[in-house]
Amino acid sequence: TTTNQSLLARRKAVLPTGLGVAFPIFAEKAKNSEVWDIEGNRYIDFVGGISVLNTGHSHPKITQRVHEQLDKFTHTAAQMINYECYVELAEKLCQKAPISGEKKAFFLTTGAEAVENCIKIARAKTRRPGVISFVGGWHGRTLMCMSLTGKVLPYKKNFGPMPGPVFHALFPAEELNVTEAQALHSLEMIFQADIDPSEVAAMIIEPVQGEGGFHQVTPSFAKALREICDEHGIVLIFDEVQCGFARTGTLFASEQLGVEPDLMTSAKSLAGGYPISAVIGRADIMDAPQVGGLGGTYSGNPLACVAALAVMEVIEEENLLERSIEIGDKIEAFLKGLNLSSIGHIRHKGAMLAFELIDSDGKPDVEATTNLKAKAFEQGLLLASCGMFGNAIRVMVPLTVEDEVLQEGLDIIKSILTA
Ligand code: PMP
Repeated sequence: TTTNQSLLARRKAVLPTGLGVAFPIFAEKAKNSEVWDIEGNRYIDFVGGISVLNTGHSHPKITQRVHEQLDKFTHTAAQMINYECYVELAEKLCQKAPISGEKKAFFLTTGAEAVENCIKIARAKTRRPGVISFVGGWHGRTLMCMSLTGKVLPYKKNFGPMPGPVFHALFPAEELNVTEAQALHSLEMIFQADIDPSEVAAMIIEPVQGEGGFHQVTPSFAKALREICDEHGIVLIFDEVQCGFARTGTLFASEQLGVEPDLMTSAKSLAGGYPISAVIGRADIMDAPQVGGLGGTYSGNPLACVAALAVMEVIEEENLLERSIEIGDKIEAFLKGLNLSSIGHIRHKGAMLAFELIDSDGKPDVEATTNLKAKAFEQGLLLASCGMFGNAIRVMVPLTVEDEVLQEGLDIIKSILTA
């Protein structure tokens, strides 16, 4: 019979080492916030396909729309033959994106591709080469995205040389001991030491860092970046691949910043598990590349377009923006209520919540974090970590999670941390 163990052995023989896997199980089925493996074990899912499942596993409405589309056609290549759901999704995203004035949008397949295309568009608009990104930022695994990513291990080591010119400024956060003044000073230093601002095409930042540890950009820092970009004609890009699509209590996290980007990305929870990403931006910038300069064979796949349209309906119908805030507040109250010295900084915007584990000296406790993940897995709860020091647990539970399942998951965390 097929077991997790037997499949793991087959996996090891044919898949490369570089492709890691967090959990030694193989999925059989999944529903909302629960997953079952091929041996019938049940898991509560606080990982959500790495923040892709804000609307849960196999939401019936999304599945139904995809079924309907599946019976019509599955691929024409959007650059060859048009289809309405592509245009409709672009219209809806342009309506919702927190950018004023005339907007345009188009689709790719992955988050990394959306980021790559933002850089292409910014370069076409400005005819400049340089890009500024941030320490701890994470933008994808393709060559340019890897260059933009502000973390060497395991993402960049041995994969160079990196495409450039790309320079990393400091990301300000109290828990990182970086002030906004220091971060702005680091930008100033880049302009003095590395590249003249007149040669910078774009600046890219996540409104809430994802892989980097759920650190939040403040409205004042966003405003400062906006001013610097305006002064020098630099295109400001918000990467909302992870923080977008209802995770933080608004459809886009940057709605809470009071600052508009010129371009923005969306992916992950945009289509609830179907591969699609978006670039949305000011029309005058989006139209800079020449005809034929943008696209991709599979980009804007119709199954994913109808899924994304269904996701937007589900977010409204099921009040997932309010639910996101409720879930975040609930988890924060729960963690604070444990009153444990091993729990360090807790940060969240809506349900985009991370908490740090620290030792008795207040230092990052990676061992405790690894231990919590391992014990949680044994007890049927899937947890992921993030952050520069690997000691933050990030919660990416579906916003559609039932109260009982959420509580069950939290109780597992409690039993481990209080043992
Ligand atoms: N940007 C951000 C902020 C991300 O979190 C990710 C994925 N973790 C990406 C880009 C890349 O997305 P993908 O893995 O779909 O290429």
